[in-house]
Amino acid sequence: MISYMPEIYPDELIFSWFCRYYVHSGCITHKAALSDILFKRCNNPSIEFIGHLQADMLSLIQKMYSLEDLVLHHTMFPQYARFIPLEQRKQALYHMAYDFCDAHHLFSILPKNETDNALKYCPLCVKEDRQKYGEAYWHRIHQIRNMQICHKHGCYLHRSAVSAKSEQLFVFLPAQQYTDNISVNMASNPIEFNYSEYLANVFNAPMDFEKDIPIGAVMYYAMSKTPYMKKSGRTKYTKQLTEDIQTYFKHLNIPDTASMSQIQRLFLGERFDFSVVCQIGFYLNIPDNQFVNPSLTAKQIRQEKDIHYMRDKEPVDWTVFDEDTAPILERVAREIYDGTASETGRPERVSEKLIYRELDLPKHRLENLPKCKAIFDRYTETYPENWARRIVWAYNILKAEKNGTTFYWSDIRHLSGVKKERLDLIIPLLSKFADSKTVNDIIEIIA
Ligand SMILES: [Zn+2]
Repeated sequence: MISYMPEIYPDELIFSWFCRYYVHSGCITHKAALSDILFKRCNNPSIEFIGHLQADMLSLIQKMYSLEDLVLHHTMFPQYARFIPLEQRKQALYHMAYDFCDAHHLFSILPKNETDNALKYCPLCVKEDRQKYGEAYWHRIHQIRNMQICHKHGCYLHRSAVSAKSEQLFVFLPAQQYTDNISVNMASNPIEFNYSEYLANVFNAPMDFEKDIPIGAVMYYAMSKTPYMKKSGRTKYTKQLTEDIQTYFKHLNIPDTASMSQIQRLFLGERFDFSVVCQIGFYLNIPDNQFVNPSLTAKQIRQEKDIHYMRDKEPVDWTVFDEDTAPILERVAREIYDGTASETGRPERVSEKLIYRELDLPKHRLENLPKCKAIFDRYTETYPENWARRIVWAYNILKAEKNGTTFYWSDIRHLSGVKKERLDLIIPLLSKFADSKTVNDIIEIIA
């Protein structure tokens, strides 16, 4: 029975809060803390969201805070859901707060680049937090993608040793122990600092759950006052805009710059990437308020929609799209395949359905994208192959976790989600994914 949860700090990630629970509660092992907090032992603590909570923990937390508030102010939800269509945004908030839905089912979460795939921190915030609270904690604002500078102190963020992916982690890594680099390196270019402030403002602004104003329309009207839109309002110079944005942000050392197809698909209402919106907005000097609190009339929205349907003068160039999307698809497919993309860390089968969902692609689109299709084909596997791979994965986890004590087929079944009736198909495939000793050990347990 859990009786105590510490207070959550301003802008603290829920993961960080749970890490502090682990430290404060005196739970001796990560495993004990995990089973206090999470519904299933095989759940990973979610770094960016909440995860599936255990009933006692849930009722304790609900006495302290509303779940919707926690999602909005203590997870990375605003980064992913701010610009998605209104109905999807409302559903996402509901499912995340009340169904413990895996966020990957609610909106697109592209894999992170190599700078953003570890938790980041500001040495001066760490110092202040230690003075004020007696301990450091993981701040949400520092984890925004492409965020390199603390918007409060103006110094570069440090990358910690803690992975920001939901990997097969099963441990709590408190900021207090992983924020030792206190060297302060101030940003010398004021534009870099202004960009981090812009990101922070867009991220922190209250989210709207009433007005249905598509971000594509907001963008259209914002662009109409810039040289990137013809006077007729018909054609946007998207190619020129992309090249200018890429040059500009590469100069600022921002690792992920918006691609042409990302920008086009934002205008077409097919994608809603936070960093793409922020890069266009910052580059074009559009006040952040125009994005976070747009004030278009119903007539303006309708007009934009009409133009939108007529806008076939500049159709998406699928060859460029294929080129742009291939590296993203490679990361997405790899993370589904190796389990990084799932909150339980379980390796999944890379299906067309999953790929279409993650990349917001229309059905059958892969057929016209040869580079992407080739990557997809490389990751394709049969169901029995996937089951075999999951069993090997579960075996390795249990072996490490049980530390020499016996475990059974039921443990493997729970973790892998594979049913016994399928074993005759699976056993011959095990050797594709494990050495012969492991295969023999597994067969001994499951056969
Ligand atoms: Zn700071």
